[in-house]
Amino acid sequence: MAILKKNIWSLFYFLIIIGLAILITSIYSTSKHIENEYIQKQKALLKTSSAAIYSTFIQQEMLLDILGEQLTQNENYKSLDKSRKILDNLLILDSPIAAFGLAKANGELYVTSSNLKDIKKLPNLLEKKETKESFKYALDKDYMVIGRTYYHKVLESLVIPIRKAIKDKSGNTIAVMTAGINVNKAFNTIPKSTLVFRELDYYNQITEIRDDSKLEVYNFPIPKENIELIKRSVEKKYKTSIEEIKNEERAISINLVRHHQKSEVLSTLKYIKRYKLWIVNQNKMENFYKDIIEESIIFAVTFFVLMLVLYYLFRIIDNFEKQKQKALYHQATHDYLTNLHNRLYLSNIFEKDFKAYKNKSFSLLFIDMDNFKSINDNYGHNYGDEVLKKISQRLQSFKKPKDVLVRYSGDEFILIVFETKKDKIKKLASDIIQRVSEPYPIDHYQFILGASIGISQYPIDGKNFDEIKRYADIAMYEAKKEKNTYCIFEDSIKHKYLKSSLIEHELKTAVENSEIYMAYQPQIDKKGELYGVEALVRWENEKLGFVPPDQFIKIAEASGLMSKLGEHIIKTSLSDIQTIQKQINKKFQLSINISVKQFMEPNFYENLFAIVEKINFDRLKITLEVTENVFIEDLDFIINLLNKIKKQNVKISLDDFGTGYSSLSLLKKLPVDELKIDKSFIDDILFDKSSESMVESIISIGKNFDMLIVAEGIESKEQEQKLTNLDCDLFQGYLYSKPLKKEDLLAYIKNYH
Ligand code: C2E
Ligand code: CA
Ligand code: CA
Repeated sequence: MAILKKNIWSLFYFLIIIGLAILITSIYSTSKHIENEYIQKQKALLKTSSAAIYSTFIQQEMLLDILGEQLTQNENYKSLDKSRKILDNLLILDSPIAAFGLAKANGELYVTSSNLKDIKKLPNLLEKKETKESFKYALDKDYMVIGRTYYHKVLESLVIPIRKAIKDKSGNTIAVMTAGINVNKAFNTIPKSTLVFRELDYYNQITEIRDDSKLEVYNFPIPKENIELIKRSVEKKYKTSIEEIKNEERAISINLVRHHQKSEVLSTLKYIKRYKLWIVNQNKMENFYKDIIEESIIFAVTFFVLMLVLYYLFRIIDNFEKQKQKALYHQATHDYLTNLHNRLYLSNIFEKDFKAYKNKSFSLLFIDMDNFKSINDNYGHNYGDEVLKKISQRLQSFKKPKDVLVRYSGDEFILIVFETKKDKIKKLASDIIQRVSEPYPIDHYQFILGASIGISQYPIDGKNFDEIKRYADIAMYEAKKEKNTYCIFEDSIKHKYLKSSLIEHELKTAVENSEIYMAYQPQIDKKGELYGVEALVRWENEKLGFVPPDQFIKIAEASGLMSKLGEHIIKTSLSDIQTIQKQINKKFQLSINISVKQFMEPNFYENLFAIVEKINFDRLKITLEVTENVFIEDLDFIINLLNKIKKQNVKISLDDFGTGYSSLSLLKKLPVDELKIDKSFIDDILFDKSSESMVESIISIGKNFDMLIVAEGIESKEQEQKLTNLDCDLFQGYLYSKPLKKEDLLAYIKNYH
């Protein structure tokens, strides 16, 4: 069924073939049927004709018998008048007879019916050409002998002579009773299609020509080859000899081509043994063929009408299927919301068809809307959808007929234009940005958005489509850093990208390969005592060498590796420090940096305390450093999480404080124990008044909320002095120590003071 659906026309052609086969067999069987009917009809006609002919002859034979008997009895014939009277009377009674005569055995006529006029003028029948043979033949026969048909001038009619020998008691022929049958009178009921010819000499006895001047047809025998043809045809068809058929007096039928008339004739034949006559019925095949053609036309017309109806039906189905397929294809390759092409189209159709574009160069613009998420979050998806529709309409106005515009996902669009001139592309990109940055009025709102566009070009930037798409995406991320701008992919971006891909690749196996270890930087309190250490992650890779944490942490976060890495950091830090604490038999604080992504992970809390539990680390001695950026995320969730952590007696430190988003009012709500002044303020504290006052106010705010204040990045005594004066609680920096490996930290602590 599926195959048929695919190609409904094969079913149609199949039906045509079946239809044609039915048509041909129908015509064939009908023609056979018609032929059979023709033969049966003709045979029936033949039988009645031959019965009529036979009965006419047998009647005349009986008549001749009786007449002969009557005339020879007591030599009645010698009385001419009396005899003639008998004969004349019979002529009136028996109209089929044209004339009667009684001849002596020597051929001389005794007496005739009076219509033959004077007997003296009558010829001797043994001498006359037309009568001679049959007379001679009849002399010693017991049955009636039929002579050749001829035209009797005196009687003015076509006559078949008949003769019957009259014998005495000892069997000697004493006379011959003879008569002429008037063909037209005797056989007027015999149809013209019925012919009679003689077996003896193949002369025609009765033909369709019975009363016009072309009677010479009776003067010659049927050509021998015609007779031979008939015989051969009969023997071939009936697989028996002609003698057999004659003997059985069977009605037979054959098709004959009459060469001289070039027409085919259906002939039925029957032999009358007694009179050695062939009765033939002939019908031109033309009629038969006409009938067949008439019937066939009906069949053919029915067939063509049926096929035509079928054709239209199939066409309707086919069109319907095609439309359905078209609709399905459209549905599959288009985005339901914007009716733009979708991602599937890009990856399955364009990318595969890409070869067709091989010679052409094109630019791929990866368009990502800025701040779109906030519309969905703040106004709901209905507004988001409306804005997306409008964006796609605006984008569509930049698309030339051959260009491809795809809604790639959410608020990401891809525009492929067959143009690579840098200035034109730059113009296009900035026009797009300008157009999509115009306000979107929906209901009583005016939505304002921006767009970041990354652009890469084929074939300059890459050889395959996937590469081009990826590079445009990378360029888009570069643009995203600035927002509402475009970025054309170039080698420096590529190198950056390749570097970060390599970092990502190597980072995947860094933990397993023991490339990751921790360094610890001491923190000193006001009294100069060791307060604690900050754990800082270190990575040394064979290919990449030393990779700084602020480089790979970002990549770890972006590629989903942070969870594993973070867990490793927590485990290592806790166990390293616990080992040292045990060795020196003294507890000190451990600060662990937690990245925002790590902090937001669903099982962060559970995982953290499972490790703490396992290692059995003193919770009071743990501080988690998070940056202010964490508050960009869901604030309720964060506050809730911080409170849970606090309940476990673990401290929270706000790292890089002063650079981020947290406000005073926010700070009040947060369960934070420690503020870590960002290194940038400490760097400038000696020369920059505003940095100094910033540090001053951070310290006073922190103190207000009972928080510990940590200064990091202290490199000089002067900085230390300043911070001491400002009442800073804790000090961290190269002045005291660089981050130290585990062993070095142990030595450092042992040697401290
Ligand atoms: P951060 O948390 O602010 O760490 C302080 C950075 O300042 C460290 O750089 C440290 O080595 C450096 N530093 C400390 N004292 C001085 C000084 O006197 N002078 C100078 N020039 N630098 C000083 P590091 O180790 O390269 O770390 C950079 C950043 O990487 C960290 O900033 C932190 O945000 C991130 N990071 C490091 N380790 C981890 C970690 O284990 N987990 C997480 N999530 N992030 C980490
Ligand atoms: Ca830190
Ligand atoms: Ca910091």
